[in-house]
Amino acid sequence: MRFLLLSCCAPCSCAVIEKLAQEKADFAVLFYNPNIRPLAEYQKRRDENERLCRKYGVKFIELEYDNTRWCELTQGLEDLPERDKRCSICFSMRFERAFAYAKDEGFDAVASVLGVSRYKDLAQVNRAAQAAAEKAGLPYLEIEGRKGGMQERRQELIKELELYNQTYCGCKPRKE
Ligand code: SF4
Repeated sequence: MRFLLLSCCAPCSCAVIEKLAQEKADFAVLFYNPNIRPLAEYQKRRDENERLCRKYGVKFIELEYDNTRWCELTQGLEDLPERDKRCSICFSMRFERAFAYAKDEGFDAVASVLGVSRYKDLAQVNRAAQAAAEKAGLPYLEIEGRKGGMQERRQELIKELELYNQTYCGCKPRKE
């Protein structure tokens, strides 16, 4: 099975990419994140994700940076907290594009690391992914990125590879 791994950034995807590469899985990383602002931050995360893929010999694909459309879709929801409706719309937009690309390019399935961070509601991510999968008629592969030592390995790799590790998800800085 040849699949796409939708990735938001290097720190969330490093342990998953390492494991899949070790298992010799047939996959490519897809970077479709029009939610990340500002543009310089988007470019920094993209470059770091690409560097990670080069290290593991994994193909890296970048799609368009359509932040204008992302802003239109989430208009009026700017002040909602993370995990609320804005995030559902954001996940749906990204998954729908990922599945459409997968279908056009002959991939058999889509997976993602969008729910790896502890700030994310994994069930919310999976709901958006499954809805996009049904729409496209391709399966969504749920890949473990949290349990079984994956979080610990992620932290190790962030240090080991000196990955750029941002302090907010994508659209706005967290208030902590
Ligand atoms: S917090 Fe992250 S997932 Fe939620 S809307 Fe912003 S960029 Fe998207």
